[in-house]
This record gives sequence, C-alpha cells and structure tokens, in this order.
Amino acid sequence: MIKSVNILGVSGSIGTQSADVVKNLGYRVRAISVSKNIEIAKKYIADVRPEICAVEDESLGQALENDVFGSGVKIVYGQGASSVAASADADICINAISGFAGLLPAMTSLYHTSRLAIANKETLVAAGFFVKKTAKENGVELIPVDSEHSAIFQCINGSGKDVKRLILTCSGGAFYKKTREELQNVSLSSALDHPTWNMGGKITVDCATLMNKGLEVIEAMHLFDIPADKISVVIHRESIIHSMVEYVDNAVLAQLGSPDMRLPIQYALTYPDRTASLSEPLDLTKIKSLTFDTPDIVTFPSLALAYDAARTGGNAPCVMNAANEVAVEKFMRGEIRFPDIYNITRATVDAVPFSKLSSVDDVLMCHKKAAETADEISKSYSLAE
Ligand code: MG
Repeated sequence: MIKSVNILGVSGSIGTQSADVVKNLGYRVRAISVSKNIEIAKKYIADVRPEICAVEDESLGQALENDVFGSGVKIVYGQGASSVAASADADICINAISGFAGLLPAMTSLYHTSRLAIANKETLVAAGFFVKKTAKENGVELIPVDSEHSAIFQCINGSGKDVKRLILTCSGGAFYKKTREELQNVSLSSALDHPTWNMGGKITVDCATLMNKGLEVIEAMHLFDIPADKISVVIHRESIIHSMVEYVDNAVLAQLGSPDMRLPIQYALTYPDRTASLSEPLDLTKIKSLTFDTPDIVTFPSLALAYDAARTGGNAPCVMNAANEVAVEKFMRGEIRFPDIYNITRATVDAVPFSKLSSVDDVLMCHKKAAETADEISKSYSLAE
C-alpha cells in the first residue's frame, strides 16, 4: 500500500532531504508547508505534486497562489498555515520546521496522522510532556528523525528493558578545542562551518555552542522516558557512531552510518522495515579511526545549562529554549558576540521564576514571555551603537 505523507517545513535542510526520501520511496505527498521560501515550494509543487501547500507569510503565499494558478494545488497562507497543512489526513507527518514554531503544527498533526516523524527537537524540549500525552491518547507513534535519537531508537528496537544509560555522540561543532578567549570574536561564517553535517543555520550555531546537544539530552529524556542523569554525551568528531545504548551488564550497542540525514529520515518512514536508501554505504577502512573525547563544559557552558534545565523541569527547558532562539537569531544578525548567546540564555533562565506548565497554552505563554525577557536582556549585550 502506498503511504501518504505531509512534510512540514519542506524548504529547510531536513525538509528538502525528506522530500528526496519520500520521492525515492514512491510515497504520496498530501501537504507541504514553508515559512517564506516559495521558490522551493514551487519546486516541490512540480516535483512531488502535493494537494496542499501552506505558506506562513501571507503576501508570499498570495504571490505563490498567482504563480501556480491552474496547477490544481491548493495554496493556504498566513500565520498558522502550517497547522492547516498538518491537518491534512496522512499516514505520516514529518515535522521538519525549525524552532519553537514547530509546536502547534506538531500538536495539530497528532489528530490527523498515525505517525509523527519528529525532526523538530524544540517541540519536545518545550512541550514534550504534552506532545507525548496527546500522541498516546490518539494512538500516534512518535518516531525520532534526529540522527542521535534515531540511533538509540534503532539500538533499543522496541524495548527499553535493562537500559542503564544512553550515550549521545556529539561532533563538538565548529569550535572544538577553541579557548574562551578565542571564542570572543568568532564570526558567523566560522560558526556555520560544521565539521561533518551540512544543516540549517540555527542548528549549526547550536552545534557550535553545544546547546544542540543540550536540547538533544532533553529530547532523549522525553522520547525514551529516562532521566537526564542517565544520558551522557561523548565527543566523536567523525559522526560515524550516531549514538549508543549501555545496558545493565555493561554491553554497549551502537548504530553506525555515513553522516547522511536521509538514512534516519527514511527509517522514521519505513520503520519497522528497512529498504535500500539514498545514503552512501559506510566504509570503515577509509575512515581508519574513530575518536572520542569529553565535552568541555567550561568553555561551552550551554551543555551544562541544558542539564540544569532538564533536572529542574517545569518551565525551565521552555524558557531556556526560547532565550536561546532569541540569542542565536541576534548572533546570526551580527548584533551580539558568540559567547553572549550563552550569557543571554543564562541570564534569562535566572530571571524567569520557576513554574509548572499545565497546558500547551501555558507553554505558548511561557515561550512568549521568556523570548521578551531575553530580548530585553540582550540589549545590554548589543554591538549596535
Ligand atoms: Mg542531532
């Protein structure tokens, strides 16, 4: 039977690779969504022939509607359009939206699909409890796309029995081995120069601060029902081992593969089956050696901050994530220095009092307030005259 798929955030790095995988598998695409990139939307309207294309930006959505008039695809646009795409009934919804903006479409998809393939870690960090609860109530499978979590998912293979510890591997990002002094004046282009993965801007900067790994620790807590203190991080520059699971008898299972997101994307779609993929076969004789190191949390304190937020729970992960999104955006616009991503995030986490979150509305409110606080705090770090 041909499966039907929605791809939310199709213009990003995971989105475009998802479209390639879906096309290669011969699945039918029901809906796609983009934030602003209507050129890529046009490409996929021609390429994968969705029934619905959603554009978050209203005027760009109108322009697209004019451009594709007569093609038979329905264009929806304006704020919240991604949730319209998520409400098209499909076997699988791939959430490849970047950042907190992925939360509401993810929640909507849980009423219109039987599987959510989740590439949007911020959704789980900020609202993991509610996403999981709603998924369970509606009988929706949550399958990770993030390479580390896909690796753990593949190692565990349906049973979390006798697991002692999860070991997330981490490339170390663009600034591995740099000193605090050297990080003071690093440029955006150097932060975007990732050693092994080719990804979007936000996540690549998060890799450079190690916040990405911190978000992934919280993501893993939710996906695998395990406390943060049973999740460790090991630097592995080659990105060949995608993560590991240690069992009570000290056996360690690992999943290896070329650093190519098309493999975890495909597994999230075909699970529990495997089929030939677009990713390159792994040749360990060419790689020769695999190296491991301890993360430097003094130089890269964002990872420790995320562990603290994970242990605190309540609103802490949501506040941290919101502040980090604000700070990363400011760094990408050249408004603050690289180390101030952490400083702003840390100051925001310290400024916002602890509270429990009892609904998705609470999460939305918490995110908004934390983002405003981070914006205010970042004024004292601004490089602008
Ligand atoms: Mg990852």
